[in-house]
Amino acid sequence: MSEDLSLVLRAAFFSGEKHKKQRRRDAEETPYINHPLEVAYILLDEGGVTDAATLAAALLHDTLEDTDTTREELAMVFGHEVSNLVVELTDLESVLPEHKKKRELERAHNLSEKAKRVKLADKTANIRDLATMPPKTWDIQRQIDYFDFAMKIAEATASASPALEKVFMRDYKQFKPKH
Ligand code: ZN
Repeated sequence: MSEDLSLVLRAAFFSGEKHKKQRRRDAEETPYINHPLEVAYILLDEGGVTDAATLAAALLHDTLEDTDTTREELAMVFGHEVSNLVVELTDLESVLPEHKKKRELERAHNLSEKAKRVKLADKTANIRDLATMPPKTWDIQRQIDYFDFAMKIAEATASASPALEKVFMRDYKQFKPKH
């Protein structure tokens, strides 16, 4: 157990350091680290996920895409299971923004069970945040489009966790904006 705790806290600290200069897009410019922390906490608290590699991967899920972190660095600090999970959750191809969502959906279907759980918690966190602290520049239609996209990802990943599926579906119904 203490090794698991050490892994998870190391991932939280590492992620905080890597994202330290980044802010989210909401009006208050929330520190970026709040997002991976939220995803990991949803997994544990609402999904009942206690697997340390899954929780560490949740904390690190944006480090390859959005910071200078490398796959080798993750493997060295956290081991191969965690680094492979983060790689699964990362799209390193530089594609046009309009193709990004299509690729994310294709990739979601092929994720491992552990990565699917992180993905589903990630989308739950994103729709919650959209409802409570939307990006400054997003109008209602853009928010609605994101909810629809998140639902497709949820459908692709829900089989990995009935508990997380339930939480996502509840929040989707509760929070989806109306015109
Ligand atoms: Zn995320």
